Amino acid sequence: MDNKIEAALVKDFPELFRDINKPMTETCMCWGCDCGNGWEPILRRAFNQLYDIEPPIVLDQVKEKYGGLRIYYHGGPRAKRRWFGWIFWLPGLLFGIKHNWRRLPRSLFHCFRVANVNTYKHSIDVVQGIVDAAEAESFRVCESCGACGAPNHRGWISTLCGKCRAK
Ligand SMILES: [Zn+2]
Repeated sequence: MDNKIEAALVKDFPELFRDINKPMTETCMCWGCDCGNGWEPILRRAFNQLYDIEPPIVLDQVKEKYGGLRIYYHGGPRAKRRWFGWIFWLPGLLFGIKHNWRRLPRSLFHCFRVANVNTYKHSIDVVQGIVDAAEAESFRVCESCGACGAPNHRGWISTLCGKCRAK
């Protein structure tokens, strides 16, 4: 991504880009947004939504991979264990044993969801939803110019429009 375009993103979303000046041993953000200019509107839209999340999100890596956008991050809402959460494990275990051993892992996982609670303003899933939507959209947008595009099916995969692919 061009320095000018990236600098504007960094300026508008300083919290998200908090790690951009850290060394490469600590973060991949030292490479900046490692994708074409065409995806800037997708990133800006996603960053606008991520910027509102409490506690704050910090980007770890933004790059192109296999023709799609990848956004890695840390921070954001995390589940907290209820102090009485352990009580929920017993019914899960008993149900699993009584009905079907093969269902035990799923049964325990369900009880894990009940035993943990999100104590933050935003849902845990909302962050991954924003990221997933941006990544999915990138497969329909030319990475180079931002027009409608599609991934190729042979060789090095990239998502481009007809004009940019012909170049
Ligand atoms: Zn294009």
